[in-house]
Order: sequence, then C-alpha cells, then structure tokens
Amino acid sequence: MSSSANIPAPRNEPILSYAPGSPEREAIKAALKKMGGEVADIPIIIGGKEIRTGKTHDVVAPHNHGHVLGRVHQADGRLVTQAIQASERAYRDWSHWKFEDRAAVFIRAAELLAGPWRQIVNAATMLGQSKTIFQAEIDGACELIDFWRLNVNFAEQLYGQQPLSSPGVWNRSEYRPLEGFIYAISPFNFTAIGGNLAGTPALMGNTVVWKPAGTASLSSYYVMKVLEAAGLPPGVINFVPGDAATISARVLADRRLAGIHFTGSTGVFQMLWKQVGERIADYATYPRLVGETGGKDFVLAHSSADAESLAVALVRGAYEYQGQKCSAASRAYIPQSLWPDVRDRMVAMIKDIKVGDVTDFRNFMGAVIDQKSFNSLSGYLDRARKDRGVTVLAGGGADARKGYFVEPTLLQARDPKYRTMCEELFGPVLTVHVYKDADFRQTVKLVDTTSPYALTGSVFARDRDVIDYARTALRHAAGNFYVNDKPTGAVVGQQPFGGARASGTNDKAGSILNLLRWVSPRSMKETLIPPTDYRYPFMADR
Ligand code: NAD
Repeated sequence: MSSSANIPAPRNEPILSYAPGSPEREAIKAALKKMGGEVADIPIIIGGKEIRTGKTHDVVAPHNHGHVLGRVHQADGRLVTQAIQASERAYRDWSHWKFEDRAAVFIRAAELLAGPWRQIVNAATMLGQSKTIFQAEIDGACELIDFWRLNVNFAEQLYGQQPLSSPGVWNRSEYRPLEGFIYAISPFNFTAIGGNLAGTPALMGNTVVWKPAGTASLSSYYVMKVLEAAGLPPGVINFVPGDAATISARVLADRRLAGIHFTGSTGVFQMLWKQVGERIADYATYPRLVGETGGKDFVLAHSSADAESLAVALVRGAYEYQGQKCSAASRAYIPQSLWPDVRDRMVAMIKDIKVGDVTDFRNFMGAVIDQKSFNSLSGYLDRARKDRGVTVLAGGGADARKGYFVEPTLLQARDPKYRTMCEELFGPVLTVHVYKDADFRQTVKLVDTTSPYALTGSVFARDRDVIDYARTALRHAAGNFYVNDKPTGAVVGQQPFGGARASGTNDKAGSILNLLRWVSPRSMKETLIPPTDYRYPFMADR
C-alpha cells in the first residue's frame, strides 16, 4: 500500500482578494447573478444515478428568505437502503483501487475546485448559507481544496509507516479500508466540512452514504458534482439529502455500518453514539465514531495584553459569519484595567459593521441560517435585555422580515456563569465578564470549568510567564489554543482542528490522525525461508 507515486508537495490554496477590479470579483458577481436567477433542482444521487422523489424541500437564501434557490428532493427509507447497497457494490472495486488512482481523483477534484468550479461553489455557499465572499472563499474554496489536496499527502505518510523486519522475514502493514460503509453527516456552517466528511473516508478506500445539512443542500450538491467531475466512481459517495431522523434510523439499523463521520451539535452526536451503543451486538464490526461537535470558545485577556489587537480579535472572532463558526469567540474575560479601552474600541467597530445581503460586498455580516436559529437567538437577546446584571453594550436587535438578521451583539455579564457565558448560542453574540486584575489565576480556573466544551480558546498577554501559566492551566480546555490571536480560522495542515470534552472525539480533521480512523491495519508476516525442523537448538544433547 505504500506508494512511490511522487505525490505533489503539500501546499495551501492561496486566498483570492476579490478587490475591486480583480478578475475573481467579476467572476463571482457573474456566478451570483446566474445562480440567483435559477431554482436548482437538487436530486438524490445513488450509485451515480440522480433520483427525484418529487417530495421536495425549498432551499432559501437566509438573507432573503423569500428567494427560493433550489428544491431538494428528500430521500425515504427505501432509498437509504438503496444507497447502502450502492456503496456495498462500489466497495468491491474501489477498496482495491491503487492509492495513487484514488489520490488522482481527489487531486483532480481539488484542481477543479480551485479553477472552473471555484465560483460555483462560492456562489452557492454565499447564497445558500449567507456567507460574504471572503467567508465563502476561505471555506468552500480554500479549505476544501486544502482538505482534498493535503489529505493525499497525509495518506502517503500513513501508508509509509511500516514495521521492522528481522533477518529472513518481511513484515508489512496493509492499511485496509474499514469493512462496511461509512455514514457521513455534515453541518450547515462549512461547505468544506461536507466535502471532507464524505471525501476522507473515500480517499482511504471506503464507500460512503453522505447526508448533508438541509440548509447547506445547494453547496453540498455542487461539491458532489465536483467529485463526480473529477472521476469519482458511481456509488463511492452516495448523496442522500432528506429527513435526518428517517435517514439515520435506517442507516443505524444496518449491520454493515462501519463508521460515522459527524460534525454538528453535541446533542445529535451523543444521540447517535447512544443508538450505536444500544445495537452494538448487531453490527458486523465496532463502528468507528468520529464526531466534532459544539463549543463555547473563550478569549482570556491578561492585563499585559495589547488592547487594540484584542478588540480586533474579539470582533472578528465573534461576528464573522454571524458567529456561526464552531470556533467563534463567544465568552471573553477581560481585566478591569483594560476594559474601558477594549470596550470603546469594540463598540466603535460594531457600530461600523454592516449587516445585510451578502451579494452587496460592503456588508461584513449576512443573516443567521434559519428561522429556528433566529428564534433561539432572539430569545437569548430578549432575556438579556431584562436580566439584571447584564448590560447590552452594542447591538441586541433582530429582524426577520426579509432575512434572518441578528445584530452583532456585545453583552457584559456580572455573573461569569450567566447563561450566555456557558451555553452555545451559535450566533453573533459575545458576552464579556470583567474581572479584577489581581484575580487572573481564579479567572483561568473559571475559564477551564465554565462549560462542558473544549474546542477553541485564546489567551492575550505580552507577559511570557503569563502565557506559559495559561497554556499549562488550560491544557485540556481547548483542542485548538491560540496566543494573541482570535480563536477562529484554523488552516488545514497548519492548525489541525478539533476539540475534546463535549466538543468531540478530537480526531483532528485535515491531519493524519483523522485518516487513521478510516483504516483497519492488517499486519502481514512473510517468512522467507521457513524452518524445516520442529526442534530448537537448546534441545540438542550437547
Ligand atoms: P446539527 O447538529 O443541527 O446538524 C448537523 C447534522 O446532523 C445535519 O446534517 C443534521 O441534519 C443532522 N442531524 C440532525 N438531527 C439528526 C438526527 N436525529 N440524526 C442524524 N442526524 C441528524 O448542527 P448544525 O446546526 O448543522 O451545525 C452547528 C453545530 O455544529 C454547532 O453545535 C457547532 O459547534 C457544530 N460544529 C462543530 C464543528 C467542529 O469542528 N467541532 C464544526 C462545525 C460545526
């Protein structure tokens, strides 16, 4: 399985600027115009065949919910069974493809996405998930290109890990795909995650049933089309949009389930884990459970921090993509001495932020994903306005008449255990707790113990001893830990991503560690000249 294929060297896809006058700006504007004028008919894709059930759900633009972008056909239980069968059929061939041939499909997919498909996937991400062009570019284009390209390099490293051989013996490790199919379930908030959750097990020789998030159906569909255009054989990934509970019930009841590759909320992952646990004796193997889930990501500032960079990190970290990144800064701990300066800078920036239709490039933020999210966030804001000990310093408003718009909101909470300091809101709401400078160490403890999550976190300080102290004391508080930077924006191959505690299994998407979960190694020993006498030398008389 080890390869001598001379895989192209790893490199991250450069982020295009979309500045006025750039060719990419012209290209994305044209793609938005075209896609914005169409209603996509999004099928289920099983064994390479497009299936239309006629039972459809509308895909709308969150910033203009009257605008229907597509109709996505919903799979029923019978089609889920067909998708599992198609993945089983495809497995017979695909699981025996040489690594370099599988790699070629993904390298080509990355190249297609970097080139002719870039603005299609970006436009779908902007319109369907309400991302600005910059947020779409770093997700649907760059991050997914990086996943597909760099995972090939990581796979090559993995296959290259081979055991020792003693004289007369040849030992090998064969990194087999898992026996069975993989169920990939993706969230709405990153187009790249869907392409990675389905693509990575496939790269390692597995076949997949992929259930995309309903609200990300448009971009997910185009991601699937890129993979098809790259030469992914029919049935290797089966695209099965539809009701999550119906699909999962059928998938989890199948004895061939070999793994779940999930990203989404903690509650859903825990439910899947429980259901697998209840049926554990019915499966042909122990399904691998890989899940990256929720977060309550922190920014902790020390009195030695630089107020200006801290304020910028908080604004970008909390409000980009409307706070709907699993890594978004949502609780901050700021020392009294710095607070007035940080607060004033933040409030000024927030006042400057424009929220609206993402096709207007002057906007920094779009809408939150759907009515459910809007209602939940409005509820938190209503409560915050009434609750004692909480001050709304900026924003606080929400308006769903045209799109699901929630203002970038800055709350200050006297109680460090106030609900918005502890619960994942998944929206543009940052809560700050101001502490006495002398209480830094107690505050570190508070950061560590406030939420069940441990996804991302940042420490801002110029004092090196303080940085060292926080890094040690917060060792298990975040899977991605930042010093003097915002807690968002991990890059594939640079900051492998994932958290522990209630935030997931920490299998680090976009790294060799994740690939390990999709292989089942076989150790092979070949004896070159086998013994011909059962007796050992010690048994001789003299
Ligand atoms: P979600 O849990 O609502 O949905 C995720 C996926 O699970 C979707 O495809 C959804 O349809 C599916 N799902 C929902 N109910 C299901 C069920 N009963 N059975 C099977 N599948 C079901 O999450 P979301 O709103 O799409 O995404 C936001 C969440 O994802 C946040 O909690 C965020 O922190 C998390 N997230 C985490 C990471 C990470 O790397 N840790 C990355 C992105 C998002």
